[in-house]
Amino acid sequence: MHAWSQQVKEKDSDSIINRCSTLPFLANSFADWKRRPAASLQEFFLQRTLEFSRSFSRWIPFRRRRRAERRPIGGRRRRAQASDQGSATLPGSPAAAGSKLEKALGDQFPEGERYFGFENFGNTCYCNSVLQALYFCIPFREQLLDYYANNKNLGDAEENLLTCLADLFTQISSQKKKTGVIAPKRFVQRVKKQNEYFRSYMHQDAHEFLNYLLNELADILEKESNAAKSTTDTSSSEKIANGPSHPVENGVQKEPFVTWVHKNFQGILTNETRCLRCETVTARDETFFDLSLDIEQNSSLTSCLKNFSSTETLNAEDKFFCDKCCSLQEAQKRMKIKKPPHILVIHLKRFKYMEQLSRHKKLSYRVVFPMELKLNNTVDHADSEYSLFAVVVHVGSGPNHGHYVSLVKSHTHWLLFDDENAEMIEESTVQTFFGSSQEYAGNTDHGYILFYESLGGKS
Ligand SMILES: [Zn+2]
Repeated sequence: MHAWSQQVKEKDSDSIINRCSTLPFLANSFADWKRRPAASLQEFFLQRTLEFSRSFSRWIPFRRRRRAERRPIGGRRRRAQASDQGSATLPGSPAAAGSKLEKALGDQFPEGERYFGFENFGNTCYCNSVLQALYFCIPFREQLLDYYANNKNLGDAEENLLTCLADLFTQISSQKKKTGVIAPKRFVQRVKKQNEYFRSYMHQDAHEFLNYLLNELADILEKESNAAKSTTDTSSSEKIANGPSHPVENGVQKEPFVTWVHKNFQGILTNETRCLRCETVTARDETFFDLSLDIEQNSSLTSCLKNFSSTETLNAEDKFFCDKCCSLQEAQKRMKIKKPPHILVIHLKRFKYMEQLSRHKKLSYRVVFPMELKLNNTVDHADSEYSLFAVVVHVGSGPNHGHYVSLVKSHTHWLLFDDENAEMIEESTVQTFFGSSQEYAGNTDHGYILFYESLGGKS
């Protein structure tokens, strides 16, 4: 291979990338080398091969490894925390990367901020990438830390996902060192214990995990709130009505409490259906923690949102039962945002089920997402402005294997978290995660879940 690679000239690389399309690793390496041809091609391939063999387990979902096998040589020894928090800081090799980040930031390092990578326990990058995005969701982090501070003295409450997450975030924020690596072991164990779906070592979907996590956290808070009310004061009228203030047609399920998870992430969609015979509009509201958008090649987030809210005609086999006409009728349906959330989470539907293949396929489409987003599909046409602060990126060409990393904005700079590693990136680098304008491009790193925060003041 070396002799071969030495003979390859850069101008030939395009045709090689094309020919390599069945060998994504070679093609990707080549594309990377083209972007940064610092080393000789031979050195570059050697280095990539080493990197690839090191990260092999991430890419091959069925390979189960024993923990001991994964330990780097030179043994990162686990140091138990005095507070018995389950997770432990791992001093050792990644500290070098940490200090590199500290050096890169210099005296720009934000006061009181901590940048900690997460150890991977075998295909847990879906979890790590989502946790980093949530950690850098400042209102969420602050409320979780407050919750922990207010509740840790209430005796030994039963461990749940919320306490495990609060514990993890508290550990990060109270680290003496500014950078390093943390093992979110207790949290990951809790996820696996509680949900069979995440128990295997297979590649998991970061979006499904985020959705599961937010719903679970909200449920726990609601239960706690209910329990507190039933034990202390049954006549308490302090509960805040959630969702629509008046009952909605077709009976929306009312949620009794607004937890701080809801306050951060929950928005309300309204689904309007107009009967084409009698013109009656039926509105049905539903709450959401994230919006899942269909995507198109060479499009933008704004156009995907527009399509999401476009009018759809229900006819033929798909007619609508109109209560007024008491029969199936043709109708027009559209979905609009009634209450934009404070934190807007957008899931780009990159994994599409292909009927003809009987499996999911990853869409590498280029979808431009802006740093500042104006929502234009709200009911009252009020512009809601948002600012991007995190992106969960799916790396790889297929849905069943691959890797997740996250990009986060902290204070004024952007960072890339890749399991244990954290590095600074330029804001302009975020553009390289928009997707590929051609199907077999070498770049397989695509923005998958986008996190925006409303600029319209905190709720
Ligand atoms: Zn009708």
